[in-house]
Amino acid sequence: MREGWLEHFADAPDVLIGARRRRTIVPVLDLAVGGDEFVTMAGPCSVESGHQLMVIAHRVRSAGARVLRGGAFKPRSSPYAFQGLGLEGLKLLAAARDETGLAIVTEVMSERDVPLVAEYADILQIGSRSMENYSLLEAAARSGRPILLKRGMMATIADLLRSAQVVLSNGNPNVILCERGIRTFETAMRNTFDAAGIALLKQVTHLPVVADPSHAAGHRELVPALARIGIAAGSDGLLIEVHPDPDNAWSDGEQSLDFEGFTAMMADLEPWIALRGARRGEEKMEQPHSIDSRFEEALT
Ligand code: PEP
Ligand code: MN
Repeated sequence: MREGWLEHFADAPDVLIGARRRRTIVPVLDLAVGGDEFVTMAGPCSVESGHQLMVIAHRVRSAGARVLRGGAFKPRSSPYAFQGLGLEGLKLLAAARDETGLAIVTEVMSERDVPLVAEYADILQIGSRSMENYSLLEAAARSGRPILLKRGMMATIADLLRSAQVVLSNGNPNVILCERGIRTFETAMRNTFDAAGIALLKQVTHLPVVADPSHAAGHRELVPALARIGIAAGSDGLLIEVHPDPDNAWSDGEQSLDFEGFTAMMADLEPWIALRGARRGEEKMEQPHSIDSRFEEALT
C-alpha cells in the first residue's frame, strides 16, 4: 500500500489491507459477505407491520436479495416523526427470517438496546448519525454480531475507518462498511454518493464494503444508476429500500423502490455483478497482498 495512505489512515492500522494477508469475509448465517457472492440487502426503511414485512421479505428474496433490512429503532431527522416499532419490530423481523431464511440487518441506536437487538438480528446496523458514538460501537462490537457500519453523513473516510478500528479493537473482526452518501453543497439529491470513496476503501482496507444508493440518492429514480456505479466501484453488496407502496411508506418513501422497480433493477444489475465476479477471479490469480513492513515492525 502507498506510504501516503498509511500515514493518512494511521489511526486505523488494523483495518488497512497491509495488516492482514487476506480480505475479511464476514459470515452471516449461510452467507459470506465480502466473498465471491455479491450480497444484496433489501427491505423497508421501517418495519410497519407483520403483513407488510412478510410480503416484502418474500418479494425481495425472489428478486435475489439475501438479507432483509428493516428498521425497528429509527433515527429520524424530526423528533415528531415515526420512531419505529421497537421490540415488536424486532420480533417481526425474526419471524420473517424464520419463514424465508433471509438474514436480518437492523439498526441499533443506543448502547442500552444492544443486547436486545443482538438477540434478534444477524447483523447490527450502526446508522450514520451514530457512526462516531464510540460507546455504542464498543457495546455493539462486544455483542459478537457482525456490524454494518454506515458512514456518517459528514464523516471522512479516515473518520469511518477510525470507527471500524474501534470495533476491531473491541474484539470483533466482522465489520461491513457502508457508503450511504455524504453532505456536500449539492442539494438536488439527498446526499452525494461517494463512489470514489468505495474505490478507495476497497484499495486501502480488507473489510467488505456495501453501497446504499437509496439514502445517497433520496429519489427512487436514481437508485438503479447509483447501484450500478456502486458495483462498478467495487462494492461487495447493496443496501436497498423497498416498499410495496412507497408513496405511503412511514419513512423514506421518496427513495424506496416498489417491487416491480426492485425486481427490474436486480435483473438489470446481473451483468454488472457478473463482471465483478470475473474481476475477483483475476484478483485471486495475483499475488496475495504482503504484510507491509511497517506493520510487521508494529506487530512484533
Ligand atoms: C436507514 O438505513 O434507514 C438509515 C436510517 O440510514 P442512515 O443511518 O444511513 O441514514
Ligand atoms: Mn431509511
